[in-house]
Amino acid sequence: MLSRYSRQLLQVRSLHFPLLTRRPLFLCPLSFMKPQVVFVLGGPGAGKGTQCTRIVEEMDQTMTANTQKNKFLIDGFPRNQDNLQGWNKTMDGKADVSFVLFFDCNNEICIERCLERGKSSGRTDDNRESLEKRIQTYLQSTKPIIDLYEEMGKVRKIDASKSVDEVFDEVVKIFDKEG
Ligand code: ADP
Ligand code: MG
Repeated sequence: MLSRYSRQLLQVRSLHFPLLTRRPLFLCPLSFMKPQVVFVLGGPGAGKGTQCTRIVEEMDQTMTANTQKNKFLIDGFPRNQDNLQGWNKTMDGKADVSFVLFFDCNNEICIERCLERGKSSGRTDDNRESLEKRIQTYLQSTKPIIDLYEEMGKVRKIDASKSVDEVFDEVVKIFDKEG
């Protein structure tokens, strides 16, 4: 698997991607370099966590020269206007948002994936009723944030309905291109 991505991963390899889950205030406190942040967004079950883990794992396995520690992934943030305002207020001038990695996935596929995840995850909110509500919340609160970044030309959209490997292939292409 690694050899398949080895060419594209060349640039990703030398970077360090701590995975943060909705804890932007703990960003890289000791770094003298301005943090470069990638917001990872998409509906519940779109595969954000899966792909973030994969990015970080590939890093751990392949990293040789860990010279740049100023790159951060933030999974599932900002998920609403309140989050965004908090980010802008707290991080203005302290971090740059490189781009938004948007996992675009059909609602029904998202629900099915979460129902499957619910069988083993122990997440009590992975049931159909709760998932329908979470999809509505995503559409009403999070999608407009993605649209805002789209207007700024900062959204990198991926068809997340494909297999994990195919989606990751697209992720790698994007990081390869973005540097
Ligand atoms: P999110 O963090 O966006 O809510 P997860 O990464 O937790 O989504 O994925 C939800 C469920 O779907 C998990 O059980 C995961 O294994 C599965 N999954 C993730 N990506 C894919 C994919 N591309 N194809 C099929 N199943 C997937
Ligand atoms: Mg998740």
